[in-house]
Amino acid sequence: ALYTAPIFTQEGAPATGAVLVCEDITALKKLEQMRTEFVSNVTHELKTPLTSIRATIETLRTIRPMDEQLQEEMLEIMDLQSERLQALIDDLLSLAEIEHDKEIGEETCDLGEQASQAIALLRSQAESRAVSLSLTLEGQAIVQAPSGRIRRLVINLVDNAIKYNREGGAVHVQVAVLGGRARLTVSDTGIGIAPEHQSRIFERFYRVDKGRSREMGGTGLGLSIVKHLVSLYGGDIYFNSVQGEGTTFTVELPLAGNR
Ligand code: ADP
Repeated sequence: ALYTAPIFTQEGAPATGAVLVCEDITALKKLEQMRTEFVSNVTHELKTPLTSIRATIETLRTIRPMDEQLQEEMLEIMDLQSERLQALIDDLLSLAEIEHDKEIGEETCDLGEQASQAIALLRSQAESRAVSLSLTLEGQAIVQAPSGRIRRLVINLVDNAIKYNREGGAVHVQVAVLGGRARLTVSDTGIGIAPEHQSRIFERFYRVDKGRSREMGGTGLGLSIVKHLVSLYGGDIYFNSVQGEGTTFTVELPLAGNR
């Protein structure tokens, strides 16, 4: 884009020159394209469960007399689909809130304590897939971030480590203090991520296997939320994955007082 603007001298004398503003239109176009894509993804993701709920209501209305077992199944579908809608709305709101935040605030929390709480919350989910959960704490990792957000970060990573695991697999979480940084690692013995997908998993709504992600209650926004949180609190995230063997995610955050 090219704009010209007249220049005025202090006395208000007429222009003697011009200012040229050059903008990188490709970057702007790309941003605009990403925004459009995001809106269309959101619309699609919201419409799918809604369509299913409406279709089920229609069936309940049409079929008379309704067999009791069938009715129970229909209610189950609506229950599941509304849970999906709720999860999606919650994640979209969290993402918008984190993206909007520019300041990190004064609050501090213990990463180890939040990891331990996250594991407690996910224990029954892990048990339902016979996945074992373990935690090792080394040192006190106090970070400058609200406890709820740090817990959310750990929950999202451990939740994935359970979901994309095999029946009877294991998830190990470790919190340590290393070189003035707090380090969280979440390792699983799961399906792993094929090399061609690895560069895209932090994108919003990107899933390697849509069916599996949905079946497991995934919104496709979990890792995107993690990435935004890590970046807001000045940390780094990376992972190592071998297909068919497992994945290890590592998050490093500055220790409070070490920023
Ligand atoms: P979802 O809600 O689909 O789990 P995420 O943003 O949390 O969304 O993750 C994006 C995708 O990355 C998942 O759909 C899955 O394909 C892949 N993924 C994330 N974590 C793991 C993991 N620990 N092992 C294997 N694949 C994973």
